[in-house]
Amino acid sequence: MVTFLTAAGRKGATFDLPMTKGNKLYAVFKFKCPHCHEGEFFVDSNPYHLSTVGDLHETCSVCHRKYTPEPGFYYGGMYVAYALAVALFATIYTAMIVLFPDAPLWLDAALVLSGLVFTAPYLYALSKTIWAAFFIPYKGVAPTEKERANAAARAAATKA
Ligand SMILES: [Zn+2]
Repeated sequence: MVTFLTAAGRKGATFDLPMTKGNKLYAVFKFKCPHCHEGEFFVDSNPYHLSTVGDLHETCSVCHRKYTPEPGFYYGGMYVAYALAVALFATIYTAMIVLFPDAPLWLDAALVLSGLVFTAPYLYALSKTIWAAFFIPYKGVAPTEKERANAAARAAATKA
């Protein structure tokens, strides 16, 4: 959230910058908790540590909400990964055709392939945070009204 001050020092327009907390892009690219945008999403936030790439925490260390709403939730991330790979393929190939129209086809293919190989871990991690951002709304750290009501209802149900 950014508040601009007028020349006289009064508060002017207030709006969210795209890469600040509360904006989904922030959580997606900084690999943060989709619920509160504060806790780390991945066990290791460097996707190029290949043994742990894509491993997420079970719950957020800050707001303690679950990262996986249902079993197999992140299989849907494959659609995102596919879209990202196609976008990268199209970008590299088009750039080659436009910038180096005389380059041989094997070179275009080699660049596309190496581009896909080298960005694969990053795109894989990104596909999960994007998929989470599609389905998990930002709620802030504190429990929401609805979450408190649900917790109270659950507590009442177990007592009865
Ligand atoms: Zn959180």
